[in-house]
Amino acid sequence: MLRIILFIVVNGLSGAVQALAAGHGVILQYHHVSERTPPSTSVSPALFERQMHFLKDNGFTVWPLSRLVEHLQTDKPVPDGVVVITFDDAYDNIRTTAAPLLQRLEFPFTVFVATSFVDKGQRGYMSWNQLRELQQMGGELANHTHTHLHMLRRLRGEDRAQWLARLRDEIDTADGLLQKETGAYPRYFAYPYGEADDDIIALVKERGYIAFGQQSGAVNKDALASGFAPRFPFNAHYADMTEFQHKASSVPLPIRQREADPMLWSIAGKPRLTLSLDARVKQLNCFASGQGAITVTKEEGNRFVVQAPGAIPVGRSRYNCTAPVDAKAEGLSLPLQPRFYWYTHQWIRKRDDGNWYPES
Ligand SMILES: [Zn+2]
Repeated sequence: MLRIILFIVVNGLSGAVQALAAGHGVILQYHHVSERTPPSTSVSPALFERQMHFLKDNGFTVWPLSRLVEHLQTDKPVPDGVVVITFDDAYDNIRTTAAPLLQRLEFPFTVFVATSFVDKGQRGYMSWNQLRELQQMGGELANHTHTHLHMLRRLRGEDRAQWLARLRDEIDTADGLLQKETGAYPRYFAYPYGEADDDIIALVKERGYIAFGQQSGAVNKDALASGFAPRFPFNAHYADMTEFQHKASSVPLPIRQREADPMLWSIAGKPRLTLSLDARVKQLNCFASGQGAITVTKEEGNRFVVQAPGAIPVGRSRYNCTAPVDAKAEGLSLPLQPRFYWYTHQWIRKRDDGNWYPES
């Protein structure tokens, strides 16, 4: 089988990896904070409160997204334990449940707004007035497309140029509305459903955005530059506070070079991911969605080859890789143990008949 390799040099072959403590943070991603919305996109107000108090009580510092991005991009030092809180879509329960708590704790936050729902006053979403009030409470707003479409899905008969023009219009329409209704905003973009491919990533970059997915992992300067920076998604299935601690205190995997099969698959297959890591990472533990722990082969040059034993499932799935951190050797100051390097690689597989999977 012909294998197409996407080859990305992350840090350059000879470039030294930065001291970790100088340049990383963790971005949390939520949709609903409510007990009356779908569990797959919701955390309860009680769980959200527990997570926020955990951050407050354990030495974390919550920054606005713009502050973390600016510090990482300009190599300004970032203290260990910086966390950013983000909400996608602009649901009304963020205003009624999350925002008052965040204001009490003096935690800033960002809302990625799908502008059509807000603009037509759809039930369950905030209004422009309410979003302007959130801005007064320490909320940043950013772009999440106009109609919250599946960006990868072409319309019947649509060619590549038409498809990209439609996506550009989605981004620019949301941009125009955000500017008109709420003023200037940082040019940040979150892909709906965390779905993208190289064409989409390039388009969003060309529109001047720093863009975020929904795959787990800590963020550094390289992740921002990739156009598909990770965020840790949370929902009712991630209620375990130990897991929350591990995610919130994670650090980026020091990747020197990454080779990966394309993200989008239209056949059953076992995508291969190769990570060349800095020497301080001695072992790598990886899991594939629905397949549990998967074999990682270590090669010369601290190269780790990751491949699931069985075909990835239809839909979005991930290889999730972690490695233990020697916090002392890394100079990390947060008094929490254990700490993990964390990297997630996303795959998307269409149905075997060539159609897209339904969204659950
Ligand atoms: Zn969304």
